[in-house]
Amino acid sequence: MVRVKIGVIGLQGAVEEHIGATQQAMRKLGIQGEVRWVNRPKGIEELDGIIIPGGESTTIGKLLVTSGLFEEIRTRATDGLPILGTCAGMILLAKEGDERTMRVGQPLLGLMDMKIIRNAFGRQRESFEVDLEIPGFGEAPFHCVFIRAPIVERIWGDAEVMAKYAGKIVAVKQRNMLALAFHPELTQDTRAHEYFLRMCKR
Ligand code: GLN
Repeated sequence: MVRVKIGVIGLQGAVEEHIGATQQAMRKLGIQGEVRWVNRPKGIEELDGIIIPGGESTTIGKLLVTSGLFEEIRTRATDGLPILGTCAGMILLAKEGDERTMRVGQPLLGLMDMKIIRNAFGRQRESFEVDLEIPGFGEAPFHCVFIRAPIVERIWGDAEVMAKYAGKIVAVKQRNMLALAFHPELTQDTRAHEYFLRMCKR
């Protein structure tokens, strides 16, 4: 019996929530699998997919470098390993950041053809929730929790827009990678994780 192994990068941020949501999604899909907390490169070759959670992208980026995970994730993702990045995880997947992000030299994995703007909704609306149409996740609207969220200013190459909010891109898919500006792990709706698991299934 093939068991799908998903790793959640656990250096900082919403780690437990992603583990729980992924386990829940596995049950819903009837997939045998396990979800691991990953904080070092060892064992990464066994994984069928990696989730980079929300949190503080500057902190997670630095810890990715010091833990040795930075290069490891880059190599695996380039080889086709499925990756889901949410919020800070989305920022880290981007090839290009906003002016400040680039100026301070914040480490970005640089895997997806997109330019992100950090904290794009401003102080007035740091956190909010909204139902969005995301056809990829199914017909019913998806309840999206935004917390100091980024937006994607532009995409290029074969990156595809999966969802927009108020005219701004908030979900992008590119080959084996999926980036969401919101936090799907904070609601009971597991369709984002189910979608990702289908990308990971061998
Ligand atoms: N604002 C955070 C950052 O720039 C992301 C917020 C989040 O992941 N909830 O890293």
